[in-house]
Amino acid sequence: MPSPAPAIVLENVEKRYGRIAALDGVDLIVPGGAIALLGPNGAGKSTLLRVVATLSKPTRGGIFIRGVDARKEPERVRADIGLISHQTHLYEDLTAGENLRFYGRLYGLGDLKERVLQALAEVGLSGREHDRVRGFSRGMKQRLAIARATLHQPTILLLDEPFAGLDAAARAMLSERLRLLRPAGCTVILVTHDLQRCLDLAERFAILNRGRLVAKGETAGKSIENLKRCYENAIIQRLSAIPAPE
Ligand code: ATP
Repeated sequence: MPSPAPAIVLENVEKRYGRIAALDGVDLIVPGGAIALLGPNGAGKSTLLRVVATLSKPTRGGIFIRGVDARKEPERVRADIGLISHQTHLYEDLTAGENLRFYGRLYGLGDLKERVLQALAEVGLSGREHDRVRGFSRGMKQRLAIARATLHQPTILLLDEPFAGLDAAARAMLSERLRLLRPAGCTVILVTHDLQRCLDLAERFAILNRGRLVAKGETAGKSIENLKRCYENAIIQRLSAIPAPE
């Protein structure tokens, strides 16, 4: 029997913004499981998530989601993907429930009333269904963004610093959800600056610097000191340098 296609494949992906190469020939295979994407500010991490999510077209290169060419069939792969980015993608004038029902209809989900109540409960927002998002705190918006991104039960989750703004209880809730998703067959790319979180939540890591993949490996058996050394060696002398146009 042929082995299943890897969850995510990037082949020589380049993304240019004028003279800046945000991604500069990235090759990456994520067979499944969770991979943490590390790298300094401006390294290209968010750009990589956006091109995998088909929100941004690469200038060159191939992206395949479970064997499907994301450039040729973006709608097909999008149904499988959940993205939590720096933007919450929430409508401020709608209530929490209206936001989730809107996204649920976009994904063609049934049992919406039930699903929405459950999703709100899972992120600790029970009782806030009828409140407008405009009045939510930053952490509450982030909780709702998590509910929005996972409502359609995607098998690929792309998380761009998803812990930002969350309180201790919400951080624990999200960590627990990510741990439960893995055995359920969900593939995760987690962008984080927190090396401990990388070790706790991912089996693999990849380090981007100036749009290039400069190191990758497995987290098993690695201590925080090992990983820190690996990170510093990978981006040595460039820690504070934001890429400038060539
Ligand atoms: P951070 O850790 O600060 O979030 P990052 O690794 O996610 O950084 P990106 O946001 O992917 O970095 O940015 C990579 C490079 O691409 C930067 O030089 C940035 O200025 C540039 N870039 C990203 N998006 C755009 C855009 N829409 N227009 C112009 N340049 C962009």
